[in-house]
Amino acid sequence: MTVSQQIPVATLGVPRIGRRRELKFALESYWSGKSPAADLLATAKALRAASWREQHDRGVSKIPSNDFSLYDQVLDTVAMVGAVPARYAWTDGEVPLDIYFAMARGNQGQAADCGHAGHEHAANGHGLAAMEMTKWFDTNYHYIVPELTDDQSFALSSAKPVDHFLEAKALGIHTRPVLLGPVTFLKLAKSPEEGFNPIALLPRLLPVYEELLRRLRLAGADWVQIDEPALVLDLIPNEQDALQFIYCQLSKAAPELKIMVATYFGSLGNNLETAISLPVAGLHVDLVRAPEQLEAVGRLAQKELVLSLGLIDGRNVWRANLPAILDRIKPIVAGWPLDRVEIAPSCSMLHVPIDLDMETALDADVRSWLAFAAQKTDELVVLARALAEGRDAVAAELEASAEAAAVRATSAKVHDPLVEGRVASIEVGMTRRKSAFAVRSKLQADTFGLPSFPTTTIGSFPQTAEVRKARAAHAKGELSHVDYEAFLKKEIEATVRWQEQIGLDVLVHGEFERNDMVQYFAEQLCGFAFTQHGWVQSYGSRFVRPPIIVGDVSRQNPMTLHWWRYAQSLTPKPVKGMLTGPVTILNWSFVRDDLARSAVCRQVALAVRDEVSDLEKAGARMIQIDEAALREGLPLREADWETYLNWAVECFRLASTAVGDATQIHTHMCYSEFGDIVDAIAAMDADVISIETSRSQMELLDTFRTFKYPNEIGPGVYDIHSPRVPEVGEISNLIMLARERLLDGQLWVNPDCGLKTRRWEEVRPALVNMVAAARAIREKA
Ligand code: GLN
Ligand code: ZN
Repeated sequence: MTVSQQIPVATLGVPRIGRRRELKFALESYWSGKSPAADLLATAKALRAASWREQHDRGVSKIPSNDFSLYDQVLDTVAMVGAVPARYAWTDGEVPLDIYFAMARGNQGQAADCGHAGHEHAANGHGLAAMEMTKWFDTNYHYIVPELTDDQSFALSSAKPVDHFLEAKALGIHTRPVLLGPVTFLKLAKSPEEGFNPIALLPRLLPVYEELLRRLRLAGADWVQIDEPALVLDLIPNEQDALQFIYCQLSKAAPELKIMVATYFGSLGNNLETAISLPVAGLHVDLVRAPEQLEAVGRLAQKELVLSLGLIDGRNVWRANLPAILDRIKPIVAGWPLDRVEIAPSCSMLHVPIDLDMETALDADVRSWLAFAAQKTDELVVLARALAEGRDAVAAELEASAEAAAVRATSAKVHDPLVEGRVASIEVGMTRRKSAFAVRSKLQADTFGLPSFPTTTIGSFPQTAEVRKARAAHAKGELSHVDYEAFLKKEIEATVRWQEQIGLDVLVHGEFERNDMVQYFAEQLCGFAFTQHGWVQSYGSRFVRPPIIVGDVSRQNPMTLHWWRYAQSLTPKPVKGMLTGPVTILNWSFVRDDLARSAVCRQVALAVRDEVSDLEKAGARMIQIDEAALREGLPLREADWETYLNWAVECFRLASTAVGDATQIHTHMCYSEFGDIVDAIAAMDADVISIETSRSQMELLDTFRTFKYPNEIGPGVYDIHSPRVPEVGEISNLIMLARERLLDGQLWVNPDCGLKTRRWEEVRPALVNMVAAARAIREKA
């Protein structure tokens, strides 16, 4: 086969954190003042060079540049277009590193996060607040939210895309720079101003992109990848027109520079026509999330368009069945000129770990079913060769791929007939409490005899250095099981005693034994696998190592009973059993791709249900099942919400309803925009829900009031994301604001979230004040 028949392979973007998390350590060292900026920049440069070389060596022809970021690619774009909010006092010129990081983290930002892949807040009373952070589409990656104003001006303020292109060029590697598209950038932006219409800023933003494209062309770029994942969202006609307008202009800015518009994370749906009619040279489509769109794209698009086929899952860790993919795309590729095709992952591989070869402890079968970024890159190359040279040219690779898929399909490590049988026999009755809330709440009131405005916490108490050290030592075998057990008991006892002493009404054991609210459970369930180095970026220097749901999930033994029992044995006050809910376990794991998410979730729900039953049998009268990530799982298109919410709520109920009426089920959700899902939250039918509200001044409760939310609620009255200790008066005010919106009998008093990221010095006075505020309100009531 001749060179001219090669089909280009693109990666769209690769993980930037380094095989050994070099980026994390370099960032943290720089932030703590231990090393100069030059060291950080040198590490970053070395990471880029290594990744370009590796892609080149593996056979990638469309190697991305500017996909690297010191913190986040959206923040890079903020800096690139000069949209630095006024409070950072930047005027013009290249945005310097300290302003860049101040936007990301605040300065003197002693920030804490919600404990998981959650959000970081530096609004801590002093210093400059960081910009807001939120989840990137439906991934667990968090980006910095652009803050714009109606009179926003823009100016090209970063040479990074050009610099990185030249940096690669100097290494002899020709790259395709990646930019975040102007429409997606604006669509993700927020403004403090009411009625803000970001798309109206497009004409002002356009010249910056035009200038940048010209500079990239001058530097020698022939292609540029412009990411417009907004094309898979619900767009209004105005936004579709904006896309037409902007790409019409951009294609003229540097006529010799070809534009590949990348769409991903779903189907183009009703934006299909917009996408295929953009006057650009290429279009990337996600054929993993939306394989069915290939047919329509192939039928409707002009044959001059270069189609980038997103065939390998950039969001998940599974090895592909390559012959099956080739079969699937055969009809379309047959009718499309091969010199107008590129092979790519569904989206940037930022969302998967770097290299499976580092995983030496995985079960050999499980390992043979996985592919991380490096392996996925090889898969892309095999696909491209199979198309260009024929399947025989890569027969061995294709056979190995099909073989792994076949073994996985029937492996006993994946399929457990007992679990499958149990899921099949789920009945509606298993998702309902015995009686309605009105009946239960009376029984519960009699059982517990709690005062009005009962006080409690969300579960975790500070994970001090000592706690973490003990856990690490135990994991390494340096601390014996007996000693670790004694250590944890001591922590639990001290915490229970202290909660009694300050007069909290409902106690917790403190979660000292838990490394993470999902991993702790995953490690004890069958069906999960864990990596040693499978880190993915959550935000900035925060990386997570999600568990992998490989097979049918079941619970062998009680997971929390032992610690709950011990805690309850210490006190006559109720101690809440503390569990993570099925939807959250699902949403914070890599989920198997051979079964519907809803089906996987049902299995997890049954496992949690078993734990709930065991806790109740052991005497627990209150059981909290956290669903911190329920809202995060919402599909990108509103039309798909109902289906998701139906099974998510059903799974929570499956997990929580096996108990008697007198047993009180609690749930907790972290800061979320609840407005649009209050009905789903009500349908969960938890007796008590605690939510994060303190920073919204209880406005969040308006939706609960409008909806006439019937069950009990603990709106957070203490912002645990800040080290600041709230005064009694402040907390009382928040309780008063909550009372204006809900009935007295409905209200609980608790912090916004768990306290694991705080220090005891902050937690102690804050909770003392919280109890005092509740007492003062009771006296007045
Ligand atoms: N129970 C957990 C805790 O207190 C809940 C954490 C969360 O919602 N992120 O830590
Ligand atoms: Zn929370």
